[in-house]
Amino acid sequence: MEKIILSEKDPNFKNEIASQPGAEAFMRCFTCGTCTASCPVAEVHEEYDPRKIIRMAMLGMREEVLSSDILWMCSRCYTCHALCPQNVKFTDVISVLRGMAIKEGHVPAERQEEAKELDKAVQEIRCLLIDNKLHPGKKKADKIRSRIEDALKDKW
Ligand code: SF4
Ligand code: SF4
Repeated sequence: MEKIILSEKDPNFKNEIASQPGAEAFMRCFTCGTCTASCPVAEVHEEYDPRKIIRMAMLGMREEVLSSDILWMCSRCYTCHALCPQNVKFTDVISVLRGMAIKEGHVPAERQEEAKELDKAVQEIRCLLIDNKLHPGKKKADKIRSRIEDALKDKW
């Protein structure tokens, strides 16, 4: 495991996050892990861990957090938001971190909007898959493939 040298990190990073609308309660996190345990993305992605993102931010790991692809894995489903005993509102914290990542040039400005479009496409594909399971048919399967092909073409 990589050693963290705190003197090389940014002690003000956590204050900057907490000063943004929606992330005011971010420092209340007491690492209970409810967010990670309830997160549908963490269930399928071994590196995705909302509690870890908060710890890294608290430790001032600005570059590591803001440049990470992991930041864009959250589907903004609000499950962690609803269950957090400290009312940290992680979904809003993610939005703040994404905004900072854009502002500091880690990703293009369009990324927020593109992420929303991708989440919409995922939900659409999910509904098509469920419908196909309930009422299978070649036309439906072709429609799913075509929707996935369209989503693959969307650039990031
Ligand atoms: S559920 Fe809330 S308090 Fe618990 S680790 Fe997640 S953000 Fe922190
Ligand atoms: S909002 Fe993001 S971090 Fe929270 S449970 Fe949903 S996918 Fe996981």
